[in-house]
Amino acid sequence: METGNFVSELHEFAQKERRALTFEAVNQEGEDHNKIFTQRVVLDGTPYPNGVGKTKKDAKQRAAYEALKCLFKDKYQDSVTPWTRSSQTEISLDVSTTSVKSTNAFILTFWGTNAVWNHLCRFEREYDILGRIGKGGFGRVYKVRNRLINREYAVKIVSGTDRKAKQEASTLAKLQHDNIVRYYIAWMEDSRYLDDVSQTTTDSSSILCEEFLYIQMELCRSETLKDWIKDKNRKDLQAYQRRGESLPIALQIISGVEYIHSNGLIHRDLKPANIMFGMDNKVKIGDFGLVTTEAVDDEKRMARSKTGTKVYMAPEQTSGNYGQKVDMFALGLIFFELLWKLWTGHERVQVSRLKHERRQLLNLQQGGRFYKCFHKSPSLIIKSLLCEKPDDRLEATAVKAELEKFVQNLESAKELEKNHTV
Ligand code: ATP
Ligand code: MG
Repeated sequence: METGNFVSELHEFAQKERRALTFEAVNQEGEDHNKIFTQRVVLDGTPYPNGVGKTKKDAKQRAAYEALKCLFKDKYQDSVTPWTRSSQTEISLDVSTTSVKSTNAFILTFWGTNAVWNHLCRFEREYDILGRIGKGGFGRVYKVRNRLINREYAVKIVSGTDRKAKQEASTLAKLQHDNIVRYYIAWMEDSRYLDDVSQTTTDSSSILCEEFLYIQMELCRSETLKDWIKDKNRKDLQAYQRRGESLPIALQIISGVEYIHSNGLIHRDLKPANIMFGMDNKVKIGDFGLVTTEAVDDEKRMARSKTGTKVYMAPEQTSGNYGQKVDMFALGLIFFELLWKLWTGHERVQVSRLKHERRQLLNLQQGGRFYKCFHKSPSLIIKSLLCEKPDDRLEATAVKAELEKFVQNLESAKELEKNHTV
């Protein structure tokens, strides 16, 4: 067989096995000079994973390869050197940037077609994989379309070696709130999606791991709260404008956190990068990879792992002896960033080093622009949330009530002003 001629290989197989083979054009996008084609194989009515290419022919070859890979997995795994170096182009689509990367790819050569592998991995069988949208310390996130119901979702793939992962996924499936990323279903597979394996990764433990947890979630917009804050900082907004735009977001975040806490859970990794915006434009708290239950006895609480993102971590989180108030501390920092534009590099450094310079920051708040620019309530709330002692921090329900009161007062003041000027 000619190296890499997957289309004729597949035709040969279909003819021999008397199976109905068709190629479907799934998509075609991009500028004229830089088009991307997506094709897929349908065998006896069953669609196989998409093949993406710079020409229709490339996409077809890639689609045939994807189908053969599913059909003859045993051969592929048993081969000593299944990959042959070739100058062909492999295309990887990054949905967030829609950039197309050309690489010197390794193209699969098939070594005969005896052992037929009929088990197709669920992720590839049930979804069109539209691209990778995120990569973090714990996993990779893909934008996908569920073939059966033709709806788009995000699927996060994490290493399943952590025994808690399954339990966490089932806890999260029960949560349903407008301000929390909806988790729909989760399943385990004994292999990782190939795109995952082919990427260079620092996560070496998960390459060796034999089980992977797949979580199908609500698909959110690509912009996170981190991007939102960056964007606002670039604009020269007056303090009242900034407050006007930030407060509705702060209110939605606190509603989500109140809900998490009322379910006896602690998020433990609240930070702007883990807060997204839904297609409904509502704020969505995501990344529950570190969620844990509050209902543990003191001994277990002492032994909690020291996890979380350093900058946003409450002082007690490093000791392992903590409760829901760690989320309130992180919220204090998030609210601070939301409401307060950092004018100078020095101020930015102070915020990023909060853990060590909290006292100086509080001084800055009292004497500096922050305190003068904002109404008392949000600054006092933030001050309470950043208290060293967890007991001194307000609870989520109280923060929500305070913020709601503040927003109401603002609105009444605006109404009064309007009536006065009419
Ligand atoms: P990190 O360790 O960096 O926090 P992580 O591995 O825990 O990352 P997530 O934070 O859940 O993973 O996801 C990584 C990125 O993927 C997010 O910052 C976001 O850009 C994207 N992402 C995650 N979930 C979704 C979703 N439901 N919809 C759209 N994008 C998402
Ligand atoms: Mg994350």
